[in-house]
Amino acid sequence: MDVLVVGAGLAGLHTARLLAQRQRHVMVVDRRRSLSTGIRTTGIFVRRTLDGFDLPDHLLGPGVRDVLLYPPSRRAPIRLTSDRDEYRVADMAAVYEHAHRAAESAGARVLLGVRFDRTSKGLARLVGAEPVKARFIVGADGARSRVASDLGLDVNRRWLVGAEIVHPVASGIATPAFHCVLDPRVAPGYLGWVIDDGRHAHVGIAGYPEAMRTGIRHLLDTFAVDAPGRTAATGPVERRGGPIPVGGVLRRLACPAGLLVGDAAGAVSPLTAGGLDPCLRMAELAASVADDYLRTGDERVLRRYDGNALRSRFRGRLLLRRLFAGIRSPAAAEAAIALLRGRAGRALATRILFGDGSFPDVTSRLADAAPIHM
Ligand SMILES: Cc1cc2nc3c(=O)[nH]c(=O)nc-3n(C[C@H](O)[C@H](O)[C@H](O)COP(=O)(O)OP(=O)(O)OC[C@H]3O[C@@H](n4cnc5c(N)ncnc54)[C@H](O)[C@@H]3O)c2cc1C
Repeated sequence: MDVLVVGAGLAGLHTARLLAQRQRHVMVVDRRRSLSTGIRTTGIFVRRTLDGFDLPDHLLGPGVRDVLLYPPSRRAPIRLTSDRDEYRVADMAAVYEHAHRAAESAGARVLLGVRFDRTSKGLARLVGAEPVKARFIVGADGARSRVASDLGLDVNRRWLVGAEIVHPVASGIATPAFHCVLDPRVAPGYLGWVIDDGRHAHVGIAGYPEAMRTGIRHLLDTFAVDAPGRTAATGPVERRGGPIPVGGVLRRLACPAGLLVGDAAGAVSPLTAGGLDPCLRMAELAASVADDYLRTGDERVLRRYDGNALRSRFRGRLLLRRLFAGIRSPAAAEAAIALLRGRAGRALATRILFGDGSFPDVTSRLADAAPIHM
């Protein structure tokens, strides 16, 4: 086999598909038995991703153009309205199913209920399947990547944790909107959110785990009681959650035995915590580099997959993350929202929330290409 992809999240399935399309012999394993369970994302796709990747329309909810930013008091939110659809929330179970089928149609073999354990004596040891011999391993196994530590590549060390509840809502009652609450009592270092697109509401919080003393589940339930913009559930309530790496893209992402992609590579915007766009963007580069390396056997090819180059374009976002992390009291959060009310503040908030810069382009050649079909 040419490539073993560990992890059938968005990063793994997209990389597998692209490699299989290049006639590589690819196998994907995921420890989950079904890709519609254990979902760890809200599934908000930003305009830049919607413009750059041809996600099938039926997988996406209605466009969201309004963002409301609340201080801890929840009073007098700042409303930012775009003249374009800025966000669409995907049906993630359907997105994974679509990406699964696309990888298989391209020729990749996808095994669910199979966990990668380690490599030894040139074999990848799996739990739930026989060991396999692969020329190259793609670690797409999420924020706590086992592949990264097994191959001696960099591992994520700085985290937020996020949790949310999701439920259907009565359609057409509310205008689609994204409510963001800056309140370090419930979401220390990040935000509480409600996004309601008229079909589903997602109510969530994320923050630094060490500052969430009463536990994230308790904080989420407290936040959800009177979260702004929340409408009543009209169907089953699902819970989601997981770690979010926010230390920026890792430096050492590739070696002759394999490479990392998606959360495993730390490829999440440290500021917005968005990781879906980076999954798709990085998969393009990962597949191209892995294919070139397998074709030529030239280790210099792997230098194109350089975390340092990407990191340098993250400096501003890492700085803003530190400022965000520094908002530790309700008074500081009230003051931060007050700053955003001014002209310069609104311009900054608009740039962060509606801008194109959540994750750098990994290559200009790929970024300039026509929309990429998923
Ligand atoms: C609560 C929450 C909300 C979020 N909301 C958004 C959002 O709205 N928009 C956005 O852009 N980003 C969001 N993010 C971040 C985004 O979801 C992630 O960056 C993205 O989903 C990462 O995809 P991935 O494919 O790299 O990893 P994952 O989706 O985590 O996939 C990794 C896969 O690897 C499998 N795996 C792990 N270990 C092994 C092993 N040893 N063997 C086999 N399989 C293994 C797992 O089962 C999993 O399926 C959110 C994150 C959280 C936690």
